[in-house]
Amino acid sequence: MPAFSRLNSADQAEVLGHARVLLEEKHFEGAGGLLMRDEVRVTIAAQAAFLLLHRDTDYFPRLTSVIVYPSGYVATDVKHAEGGIWSEDDEHLAGHTQRDLRALVLAWDDVKAGAADPNDGHNLVLHEFAHQLDFEDGSTDGTPVLESGAQARSWAQVFGEELEALRRAADAGEVTLLDPYGAQDPAEFFAVATETFFERATELHQRHPRLYEELRRFYRQDPAAW
Ligand SMILES: [Zn+2]
Repeated sequence: MPAFSRLNSADQAEVLGHARVLLEEKHFEGAGGLLMRDEVRVTIAAQAAFLLLHRDTDYFPRLTSVIVYPSGYVATDVKHAEGGIWSEDDEHLAGHTQRDLRALVLAWDDVKAGAADPNDGHNLVLHEFAHQLDFEDGSTDGTPVLESGAQARSWAQVFGEELEALRRAADAGEVTLLDPYGAQDPAEFFAVATETFFERATELHQRHPRLYEELRRFYRQDPAAW
């Protein structure tokens, strides 16, 4: 995990401490033929621990189990269409979590690729655990637990404007720093913005300074300075 070596020694010790708690508290389970082992557990827990650094927070309280497949898996999404009609969509997924699922599902090959390259803007573990932070207040709305009303107001304004800007850029087919996947709703926007904050910090700081500032204040880290 090259990202780990960017931290100073105090932060490294804190990340390891948080990772240790996650390894104790969460149930890690292999699926689809993956045999659970320390390499898998530690690679996931250590990356998730980056989101807890410097913050007074519980350890993803709505999460019980981390389920890991060897590679991307197919999820069947059953949706109620209308009347007696139900539709089934098979979707290829690398990761998934939901507010009331109490579980987080990850593909090990994507976890490894995300840990190996800390600068490509993509990190599955940061993405899925950011969703868990969003769930902490009981709602899936792209807003985690914030410190004050003032912070909540500025967060709502900045995130609202940035989401709209990403939607316009995605509709216009422009190349964006933030993955256009984040344009679908505020929850995905927060998860995508978290990945970009840790993995493309300098560019996010330059091109989206207000978004960077909200994330810096929330995560209490300044990865552009690493
Ligand atoms: Zn997501």
